[in-house]
Amino acid sequence: MKKSLTADQVSLIVERSSNGSPPTLTEIAALLRLTSKAATEALFEGARKLREIYFGNRVFLYGFIYLSTYCRNNCAFCHWRTELTTLSRYRKTADEIYGAAIELAAAGVSLIDLTMGEDPQLLTPDGFELLCQTAAKIGQQTQLPIMLSPGVLSQTQLSMARRAGVTWYALYQETHNRNLFKAWRRGQDFEKRMKSKKKAAAMGFLVEEGVLLGAGATPEDLADSIVAMGKLGATQLRAMAYVPSPGGLPPDYRVKASNQELLMIAVLRLSYPRALIPASLDVEGLQGLAPRLSAGANVVTSLVPAYLGLAGVAHQALDIENHNRGVEKVSEILTSNDLSVGQPQEYQELLRQMKRNNHL
Ligand code: SF4
Repeated sequence: MKKSLTADQVSLIVERSSNGSPPTLTEIAALLRLTSKAATEALFEGARKLREIYFGNRVFLYGFIYLSTYCRNNCAFCHWRTELTTLSRYRKTADEIYGAAIELAAAGVSLIDLTMGEDPQLLTPDGFELLCQTAAKIGQQTQLPIMLSPGVLSQTQLSMARRAGVTWYALYQETHNRNLFKAWRRGQDFEKRMKSKKKAAAMGFLVEEGVLLGAGATPEDLADSIVAMGKLGATQLRAMAYVPSPGGLPPDYRVKASNQELLMIAVLRLSYPRALIPASLDVEGLQGLAPRLSAGANVVTSLVPAYLGLAGVAHQALDIENHNRGVEKVSEILTSNDLSVGQPQEYQELLRQMKRNNHL
């Protein structure tokens, strides 16, 4: 049994991070094993301070449109995997996507995230062209950056998205342990997925990378992922707890995934203080937001317009049809945590800086 770090030891690691020396691999793994309340609070407090240094009290809100729940892949952790043939699925039309984006923009989000399963129909040349046209139209009308999360793309598809004005390419490896990848992302190619992100970064996209917690990755695996995310040049780094999918990957009963998510958010903040680190509404809904903010997150993702028949990724329906994933409710939580909603102009200035610096 490894000895857990004390609050004083954690504070020393935090202090070194504040002075530009991020935690080592061994320290990251130890931080991800914290159990004592005092040590955990020292970590979260340090993460909040670092967030404040680089972002003040601003937190940015992302609107989320899960535009198609069809997928050709069979990821063992995912509710939308292809083997579940009896699921009721949808594919939104270009007009429906556009309408949802306009609603989100009017509500005050700073970014529109267009996410889909690897829908074979939307990845045909015609389907992808229509998707890019829709993204371009949304970008022109809202003047907001667009994030596209369409799965692995070819060079041609990345070029089309670039021409359409897409800013972010989000593609989560979920794990950088190849054995876990093989078991989780069944039948998929680890290298191809990594290369798609590297190509995107070289073409000028901002890249979001992410990992899954509570499905079997050890603290050492997660430490390796943190290093890999930095090497990739990703500037938004996501950690999300596994929401068990019926009949899918069994959860790792050794850890409480939502607690590990908080630790991971804080450790990411220590490792990459300037990064955008999301608190997703997709795992525990609105009630899970405050703890994630207290751990150092500076983006709230997965705000969804209610009553448009949209779904979440990890959870199909949590807090979607009740306005709990709207700007108003999220803003209330921010205010009660001494935080405020970052404005779209501030967000765009931040992205300009990220592009100029080209690293975290
Ligand atoms: S995680 Fe994404 S790629 Fe994998 S099955 Fe689910 S929707 Fe498809």
